[in-house]
Amino acid sequence: MREPALVPRLRPFTSTIFAEMTALAVKHDAVNLGQGFPDTDGPAGMLEAAKNALFGGANQYPPGPGRPELRAAIARHRQRYGTEYDPDTEILVTAGATEAITAALIALTEPGDEVIVIEPYYDSYAAAVAMAGAERKVVGLVEGEDGRFGLDVEGLRAAVTPRTRAILVNSPHNPTGTVFTRAELESLAALCVEHDLIAICDEVYEHLVFDDNEHIPLVTLPGMRPRTVSISSAGKTFNCTGWKIGWVCSTPELVAAVKAAKQFITFVSGGPLQPAVAHALDHELAWVDGLRSSLEEKRDRLSAGLADAGFAVRPTAGTYFVCVDVRPLGFTDAADLAWELPGRVGVAAVPVKVFTDHPDEWKHLLRFAFCKRNDVIDEGVTRLRKLV
Ligand SMILES: *Cc1c(COP(=O)(O)O)cnc(C)c1O
Repeated sequence: MREPALVPRLRPFTSTIFAEMTALAVKHDAVNLGQGFPDTDGPAGMLEAAKNALFGGANQYPPGPGRPELRAAIARHRQRYGTEYDPDTEILVTAGATEAITAALIALTEPGDEVIVIEPYYDSYAAAVAMAGAERKVVGLVEGEDGRFGLDVEGLRAAVTPRTRAILVNSPHNPTGTVFTRAELESLAALCVEHDLIAICDEVYEHLVFDDNEHIPLVTLPGMRPRTVSISSAGKTFNCTGWKIGWVCSTPELVAAVKAAKQFITFVSGGPLQPAVAHALDHELAWVDGLRSSLEEKRDRLSAGLADAGFAVRPTAGTYFVCVDVRPLGFTDAADLAWELPGRVGVAAVPVKVFTDHPDEWKHLLRFAFCKRNDVIDEGVTRLRKLV
């Protein structure tokens, strides 16, 4: 018998925790606070625009870089941060942020290169680095006295070697809900400039930032415009995670590089959805403000409920997620609890350690998603109260 068919570098990535958890949630009819997708639709105007495009003949291959009206809308949208991009040479539409990240890594890194990844990390990062054949160097966030997970600047500095080519930066951060401060971003920028690193920035939660926190794109810091690949997507902003319309904004050289890889992965996707996302970026940001404030309330609602159920709740400044420490309830490993939860009380959640290379350091944390209807959150909390 031959070796297993799958190449060794992809063997760690055969199943995702989301598929397993969702299957378990379905089996036990559990409230799914595991996977981060909203259970309500995006703005009606955007859905209408998609319908019109679908029935209006926009059903063939869009141009390789994306529909011009979408690239123009993305350029206008990025002006909110004071950054200017040429829609023709500096913007590329992708099959979600996931393809953008993967194509960027394939285009910009290769065997022998190291990519710094901050843990806990979105699960596609490790697989994408492996697909590129590069090596990931993992540096953890560090928990402060207030429970916030912050950037380990010294750790990052120590992780850079002459082979380091790029760093993957996700803020607002999934799963911790951290939004990097200007001071944190300044040290990141200084590191990138000093060591000539490319920053690949995953900003899919750019609009989902709470309280007085602010999303500051790393690209706006001194020296970063020539070396930053900024990536975002419509899914989290407009409650359309199934559409998979994402984009890359960067220099002409870096965009051309990402496009070289992207055009032979999917070439293009989501033709009739592209004009709808263009409409949404231009006209639906007031709707997004409403989404943001409703998510802020849901964060408070779920956080209070989880505290009530006995968890030690960590602060979250953005995204869909809140992390809790399971130790006050007498558990040591959140993964054991996550496997038990659907059968025992009928709730699904995701252990944070699956997003890390150092599971022991993160094993006490469990991630819950609050991008759900209030009745779903309340039912989840009611069930979790039975744990004590
Ligand atoms: C959801 C998510 C993505 C995926 O975005 P798509 O546009 O659906 O590909 C990427 N990064 C993070 C951190 C996410 O939470």
